[in-house]
Amino acid sequence: MAFKLPDLPYAENALAPNISEETIEFHYGKHHKTHVDNLNNLIMSSEFEGKSLEEIIQFSSGNIFNHAAEMWNHSFYWRCMTPNSNMMPSGAFADAIDRTFGSFDYLKEEFARASVSIFGSGWGWLVRANDGTLELMSTSGTGNPMVDKKIPLLTCDVWEHAYYLDYRNSRLAYVKAFLELVNWDYVQAQFVESAND
Ligand code: FE
Repeated sequence: MAFKLPDLPYAENALAPNISEETIEFHYGKHHKTHVDNLNNLIMSSEFEGKSLEEIIQFSSGNIFNHAAEMWNHSFYWRCMTPNSNMMPSGAFADAIDRTFGSFDYLKEEFARASVSIFGSGWGWLVRANDGTLELMSTSGTGNPMVDKKIPLLTCDVWEHAYYLDYRNSRLAYVKAFLELVNWDYVQAQFVESAND
């Protein structure tokens, strides 16, 4: 079974003006789709054919890893956003945020700082470490926290194709706009789910 480009969880114009329809059209319809197509071509008749995306990310390298991780990361990135972002963390997730960052606002500030400071292309992440604590991390180019046995909770794509049409070179303006779109219910669900594993 070949991998399929997952449906977007909202319309292509739903995140405007923070992220324009044109950006989503290219980012989802071209960049993301290309990773899916390339991955399918690369794994055909290889040891990775029929494996889950997560398995491929953990055990592959080179181009197969790159396209698998980029496919997974983009699918996750879309789900990390929503046009209705007016929500607050609660329960154990809110407690973990307060313990690690002091406040929800400071988490957002630190997440922005970590994402903006990545040199070149990459991904900013909020993850859950093995001991259950929250951590910010960044991966340069293509990467995924699962490789380090960490559980992704939130990601921001800071490759230029994510923001150049809307914000030109201002990654900070894009990351700030991204933070207004975060689906905290989804992020919290990742945290709760990972605690039950
Ligand atoms: Fe991207």
